[in-house]
Amino acid sequence: MYENLKEIIENSSKIVFFGGAGVSTESGIPDFRSPDGLYSQKYDVPPETILSHTYFMRHTEKFFEFYRDKMLIDDTIKPNPAHYKLAELEKKGKLAAVVTQNIDGLHYMAGSKTVYELHGSIHRNYCMDCKKSYSLDYIKSSDGIPRCSCGGIIKPDVVLYEEGLDDNVTDGALRAISEADTMLVAGTSLTVYPAAGMLRYFSGSNLVLINLAETPFDGKANLVIRDKIGNVMSCL
Ligand code: ZN
Repeated sequence: MYENLKEIIENSSKIVFFGGAGVSTESGIPDFRSPDGLYSQKYDVPPETILSHTYFMRHTEKFFEFYRDKMLIDDTIKPNPAHYKLAELEKKGKLAAVVTQNIDGLHYMAGSKTVYELHGSIHRNYCMDCKKSYSLDYIKSSDGIPRCSCGGIIKPDVVLYEEGLDDNVTDGALRAISEADTMLVAGTSLTVYPAAGMLRYFSGSNLVLINLAETPFDGKANLVIRDKIGNVMSCL
């Protein structure tokens, strides 16, 4: 199965993987944008509002209640075959970078080294005053507003609504994409900007789209696969 994709990967040496929420949902992480996912009746404010910079600053305690409840992953969540295959391709010198819109850190957990986390990571947390860093476990085990030893509020290194992407991360991702010979795009409808706009920087030979639904870029792709990314990658 997927002989075309096997051949493309065989002939590539600078693959960049660009992944969306679909890559994580296959590990059992709900997409907070899907109506029956994290849009719980428990919260009368929409998740996009709670996960905004303004809400974080004004209603910090409520933000953390939602954040701990809905955004953090428990220990049962593990990388899926796609994460592991990508780490393996990097080790073999085939893959240059992973660019992801997910904040769960599963690519690092699977062994990937060069990962551009466009929306940040729940595993990194910083004191807003002294910049001291704190682990995911610290946020999980604290109550109310997590505080630094200096008394400052600890903020997750996650890009909230109204906040810009990190310049260093964006620059690194764009450089990798512009230098790639093959781009694998998976688990994203490619409708979320600015991340989706990054695809325009790709000028390599092979654009491969792996997604269950149609995307606006299907016509530009060399290969379109309608399957789950975990299934596809475990066939390679
Ligand atoms: Zn501090």
